[in-house]
Amino acid sequence: MKKIILTGDRPTGQLHLGHYIGSLVNRVKLQNDYETYILIADAQALTDNYEHPEKVRQNILEVALDYLAVGIDPKISAIVIQSMIPEIAELTVYYMNLVTLARLQRNPTVKTEIKQKKFGASVPVGFLAYPISQAADITAFKADLVPVGEDQMPVIEQCVEIVRSFNRIYKPVLVEPKGLVAEVGRLPGIDGKDKMGKSLGNAIYLSDSADIIAKKVKSMYTDPGHLRVEDPGKVEGNTVFTYLDVFDPRADEVDKLKIKYKKGGLGDVVLKKRLTEVLESVIGPVRSRREQLAKDPAQIFRIIREGTERGRIKAAATMAEVRQAMKLDYFSK
Ligand code: ATP
Ligand code: MG
Repeated sequence: MKKIILTGDRPTGQLHLGHYIGSLVNRVKLQNDYETYILIADAQALTDNYEHPEKVRQNILEVALDYLAVGIDPKISAIVIQSMIPEIAELTVYYMNLVTLARLQRNPTVKTEIKQKKFGASVPVGFLAYPISQAADITAFKADLVPVGEDQMPVIEQCVEIVRSFNRIYKPVLVEPKGLVAEVGRLPGIDGKDKMGKSLGNAIYLSDSADIIAKKVKSMYTDPGHLRVEDPGKVEGNTVFTYLDVFDPRADEVDKLKIKYKKGGLGDVVLKKRLTEVLESVIGPVRSRREQLAKDPAQIFRIIREGTERGRIKAAATMAEVRQAMKLDYFSK
């Protein structure tokens, strides 16, 4: 039997290069060998966008387009809308008993995000508790493997704890998942900050035009001390080099550029021109497939609907086992 992958994204915007390199490439590669479910996490998106349901609604299509454009094959992988799987909400309620408030508050990912979003003590309970609903996402599908960016690893750890508690207290019906972090687990933003993120305004999107890519690359953080072409420049922490290391297929040439840059005599303009071309060669084909696909939104919704139906069957089977383990199977024979 094939092992199972569960992965997904919040429909709070289109997907960007961070998603691409941190998770999408892995998903496309692995979909042939694993039974794959890709969750468009609309319910989780609402935890910090509850006042903007239209934004979440609109981005369901955008995220699905991104998946299909990068090569997710809907005949193999099921694209699933989270909120259409009520079993996930059900599981979340039961898992809440297995997690303490202190444990949620200690989760480093959630802690960072609460700070970033400036929630303070006014954090919605739903947001604070999203690791619990994410554990429900993962376990509803009995996932073995969860391809995520590095920032999500503490959430996977918390899922494993929930699985262990559940299996110990009730019956061993849940599967312990493993997180799978790509070689580049965290792509920094164009501002040089820690992580490219939709809500951080520092992303290059898979649908960005060649002009926008060029403009964003021009604005990118390099070495603030590198003022004139002949000045020696820093390579470490220079986001343009970080991106070249990730996306430029000619590592040998990038190495030569680094040497020249450090010595002095290589300007940011030349470097950025190269990066613009490299990114266009990654994004260009994705963008044109995306434009093609976007012409028939009804077809995309058919794909999502069919994937969601497949997902529902899987989650319902897990839920039946969970109910039995928890002695909640009142009316079944
Ligand atoms: P938001 O700002 O709305 O939280 P996001 O850009 O962080 O959006 P998510 O939908 O929260 O995106 O993340 C979906 C998946 O993509 C997660 O597994 C996450 O770890 C991964 N991911 C997001 N940004 C990056 C990045 N810059 N580098 C690597 N992986 C990333
Ligand atoms: Mg995020």
